[in-house]
Amino acid sequence: MPLYWITLFISLFALNLFNASEDEKIKVDIAVYNGTVLTMNHDKEIIEDGVVIIHDSKIIAVGTKELLEKYSGKLIDAKNGIIMPGMINAHTHAAMSVFRSLADDVPDRLTRFIFPLEAQMVSEDLVYKGTLHSAIEMVKSGVTTIVDMYLFEESAAEAIKEVGMRGVLTQNIIRFRTADGQSSAETIERAIQFIEKYKDDELITPGFGPHAPHTVNTDDLKKISAFSEKYNAPVSMHVAETKEEFDLIMEQHGMTPVEYLDSVGLLNSRFIAAHAIFVTDDDIELLLKRDVGVSHNMIANVKSAKGVSPALKMYDKGLRIGLGTDGPMSGNTLDIIRQLGYVATIHKLVNNDRSVMTPNKVVDMATMGGARALHMEDKIGSIEIGKYADVIILETESVNMVPNYDPYSVLVYSANSTNVQTVIIHGKLVVENRVVINVDENLVRKEITDIQNKVIETVVNMGQ
Ligand SMILES: [Zn+2]
Repeated sequence: MPLYWITLFISLFALNLFNASEDEKIKVDIAVYNGTVLTMNHDKEIIEDGVVIIHDSKIIAVGTKELLEKYSGKLIDAKNGIIMPGMINAHTHAAMSVFRSLADDVPDRLTRFIFPLEAQMVSEDLVYKGTLHSAIEMVKSGVTTIVDMYLFEESAAEAIKEVGMRGVLTQNIIRFRTADGQSSAETIERAIQFIEKYKDDELITPGFGPHAPHTVNTDDLKKISAFSEKYNAPVSMHVAETKEEFDLIMEQHGMTPVEYLDSVGLLNSRFIAAHAIFVTDDDIELLLKRDVGVSHNMIANVKSAKGVSPALKMYDKGLRIGLGTDGPMSGNTLDIIRQLGYVATIHKLVNNDRSVMTPNKVVDMATMGGARALHMEDKIGSIEIGKYADVIILETESVNMVPNYDPYSVLVYSANSTNVQTVIIHGKLVVENRVVINVDENLVRKEITDIQNKVIETVVNMGQ
């Protein structure tokens, strides 16, 4: 055989081999590579030079760079950053961003500003736009799942879906007339309709949001408990948030707020308690026994000087506890990264011991803790095969991120929301290189500015 034939034969053989190897690669949607993967799994495994393979809505493989030889798809270079599960904001009222920074630190702002403004101004349109605005802030700061409680919650669901977030969204129920209901019976009915509409949604888990133990009638709480069971729907509620609430429930019912909620049948694995500041040791045991989830909202609690929840004790006892911001009128930002440092340092201070609240505990609360609080730990909260692909990437090139000896310390003590580069939720890119993909951020900001002008006008007309 002439030499050129041999050369040609060898070339074709090599080409075929190469093609065969490419063809053999499994085609997937996304492969994230070149970063430190904080898996937040049971063993808190960290993978250097790690790869996360995503297909459809799920994580299908996690490992080192050799995985890239097996899979092909859209490659996302983490550029030596931190790849971790999306953070969970376990308590907020997203639409209230339209009132952010109004009358901060006025002692009676709830009755003087918030309730009257909500009665006059809150509408489906305002809830939709306010939630859209907040959802942009949340995804850009690495929050992939929220627990929300507000009026016209169906409009909040539309906005959350549009941005591409995951949410446990609960319709507010209170004993007063509100912008979305003449009576609590009407808002309970609104909640049921909302649950029926969204019960099979892939991103939204609809539920009930009774406001607080002292602002909802006992009979309504019993009804909500029965409906929650009937529809297998979650309930989110403010619990033991203030000393006044604790004293009032004690006076009216001879029980702590936690014991009272148990007596009406609400405490179970569908329940998510926000705040839990004024809880006794017996209350903590009861919350644990009833498998209740808790949202610890540190910045909102200390800003309003309400107190510091015994959240560390709850965490150490194995209670399902995550982190929340509360509404943007209370906590101002919707950003969980900002909570991390406060949670770490304030628990150290109140326990007079710097070793009690380690950075990996705090990051665990922000991810798996939140997933456990929502009873969704089998679906989200860590980077593990079979879980929904809610994955974020933080860059480690900015000056505040250098050096990086310990990624947990970097996250808790020096990172901020602007370090979040890329966000994937349910297997889809939602933020890429700090740009929100599904909505026009500038347009939303303009709409919020228009609402701000109407708020100013309303406050002036109220004579404030
Ligand atoms: Zn709240």
